[in-house]
Amino acid sequence: MCRHLAYVGEPVRLADLLLTPEHSLLRQSWAPRDMRGGGTVNADGYGIGWYTGDPEPVRVRRPAPMWTDAALPGLAGSVSSGGVLAAVRSATVGMPVVETACAPFTSGRWLFSHNGLVRGWPSSVAALAARLPVTDLLLMDAPTDSALLWLLVRSLLSTGVAPAKAVASVVTDVAEAAPGSRLNLLLTDGSTIVGTAWTHALWVRALPGAVVVASEPYDDDPGWHEVPDGHLVTATPSSVDMTRLGDP
Ligand code: GLN
Repeated sequence: MCRHLAYVGEPVRLADLLLTPEHSLLRQSWAPRDMRGGGTVNADGYGIGWYTGDPEPVRVRRPAPMWTDAALPGLAGSVSSGGVLAAVRSATVGMPVVETACAPFTSGRWLFSHNGLVRGWPSSVAALAARLPVTDLLLMDAPTDSALLWLLVRSLLSTGVAPAKAVASVVTDVAEAAPGSRLNLLLTDGSTIVGTAWTHALWVRALPGAVVVASEPYDDDPGWHEVPDGHLVTATPSSVDMTRLGDP
């Protein structure tokens, strides 16, 4: 399963968040500690989105292993941001290895990522997809489960549904339509992170003036706390709330 991480708070250098920690996302791309449900490395691409002061984030995605991008250390060493969502991808069997399948997905002020898979894709969720405007489906980033999950979340956000409610309702609907799915989602607008732990690990760590939510801790600090399976976490630099969604 892919690995992902979201951060909001005091500006941090992307390199200090994603590359240099002992068990950084970069290291997780070739040596993850906690892969479940198939896959050994996360080498099918990566993506980083970050906020610069404008409401809309900047996003970079590449369809190649994170460790092969010679431009990344220079970029990440020169950019600081107070809101980041990054992911490394291990493509699910049958899904294309292309730039547009890499998280984070974005629209307006949102960044979104999915760690996991939808069982029985695509027929299991065809009825949910049919609720979306056909133009959304025609223009979806890639023919993958993650891209569809993003369309479902985005469609609720666009009608004014609160972020935590939008994420919770998509997880609940998809879990019902496609039992056994792994649905660890991350959504941020650069100020708040909403995440779900649904049959895969998710960790949260409060830092001075910041908070980070990630598939795997990026170091061995005892300040990391695991989000219990079947729970949703809403995190800001000053608060971490967990609510139960149900039994995966
Ligand atoms: N199923 C998604 C994809 O193929 C996510 C993969 C993962 O979490 N390993 O992109």
